[in-house]
Amino acid sequence: MTALTALFRDQALADDAADVLAPLRQQFVLPEGLIYLDGNSLGVLPRSVAARLLQVVTEEWGQGLIGSWNSAGWMAQPQRIGDKIARLVGAGPGELVVADSTSVNLFKVLSAALAMQREDAPGRRVVVSERSNFPTDLYIADSLCQQYGCRLRLVDNASELPAALDADCAVLMLTQVNYRTGALHPMAALSATAHAAGALTVWDLAHSAGAVPVALAADGADFAVGCGYKYLNGGPGAPAFAWVRPGLVGRSRQPLSGWLGHAAPFAFETGYTPAPGIQRFVCGTPPVLALAALDCGVDTLLSAEPLGGMAALRRKSLALTRSFIELVAGRCAGHGLLLVSPDADAGRGSQVCLAFEASSPAGQAGAAYAVVQALIGRGVVGDFRAGVQASGSANASAVALPDILRFGVTPLYTRFVDVWDAVEHLRLVLTSGEWQQARFAQRGAVT
Ligand SMILES: *Cc1c(COP(=O)(O)O)cnc(C)c1O
Repeated sequence: MTALTALFRDQALADDAADVLAPLRQQFVLPEGLIYLDGNSLGVLPRSVAARLLQVVTEEWGQGLIGSWNSAGWMAQPQRIGDKIARLVGAGPGELVVADSTSVNLFKVLSAALAMQREDAPGRRVVVSERSNFPTDLYIADSLCQQYGCRLRLVDNASELPAALDADCAVLMLTQVNYRTGALHPMAALSATAHAAGALTVWDLAHSAGAVPVALAADGADFAVGCGYKYLNGGPGAPAFAWVRPGLVGRSRQPLSGWLGHAAPFAFETGYTPAPGIQRFVCGTPPVLALAALDCGVDTLLSAEPLGGMAALRRKSLALTRSFIELVAGRCAGHGLLLVSPDADAGRGSQVCLAFEASSPAGQAGAAYAVVQALIGRGVVGDFRAGVQASGSANASAVALPDILRFGVTPLYTRFVDVWDAVEHLRLVLTSGEWQQARFAQRGAVT
């Protein structure tokens, strides 16, 4: 290592030593020697989970059996954990509930928004979103559009959103932080524009809850959903959440009218009467074991509250992603890497996305995947997101999206030295050409 690089790595170590949030990392089980930059896909395991699950299984289930629905508070978990998540996303107690998956919750809230607009403004038949939104969101929206006689209007560039919010628009549906680019939408400004145009807003917080400060009520969101297993560290397949603006929830109807969204589920009435508040967005029985793990995951974020909470986590997240961007620019120059994420701090979530210039040696098909695999081989876990070919004929405005190398930082446990080391591994993978080895081209079922 040259004196210069040592100096910079020392700087990263010094940044960690000065970081008041550094002790929060001790809450997690992090495999020795691994640099985990994929908390945006699956958060790491909180240390408290194993003991908590053992207790739920052996005591609450094993001994308490059916009595635990009351005595262990099982039935109240979706609201109790919902109240905790509400603190992270600028919502009040009793406004947010944990249930189902993000996809299912999106189905429920988007359906509620479309039903509301069908009553209030039947002429509005368009759902506006981004072409690069997460596919499940677009699939769900497409299905609901068919059901409601609406159509999806997808913009290629976020700058086209205000113009797309016209008199036909019923709902603006966005993921607050774009999964492919890490771009952070201005929720307050877009909600205001949507409302001025007569549209309702539906926000997916999959890459923002626990990653960036979110102010649902203050920023004028109408409906929101979010994911439990990414930045909330709730474990693989953790339940998701749903929120509806308090002024709207009383008249919102969601289509999955299951018994636990009923005003009096244990009255066993023949007809459905929705619960007065957000509880109506619950469909069936809560997944108690999964909720116990999610509860531990959410607590890892709440433990940052005495240290400045989401605002402090955001400052560290931006310092980490800024450092990642600058190190890549400085140390990986000449390899054709392009920054796909916004360079301006205010416009970036908690991830850095890179792509290769088509003309660079690594610009060939499959190279981005192989580079990510070579990094994983070195113990640096980021992920790869496949590009989308321009469709040409189907929609003349469709743009090609490049293959993406994605690196998520989680300020609860990512260190500055992790960022430094990750970029050094990236530099070595590129200068050595080791990514060209055949073993790095093999694809698993999950990428
Ligand atoms: C991760 C993610 C999801 C996941 O949905 P599931 O129903 O949990 O599979 C949905 N939307 C977005 C934007 C995501 O990033």
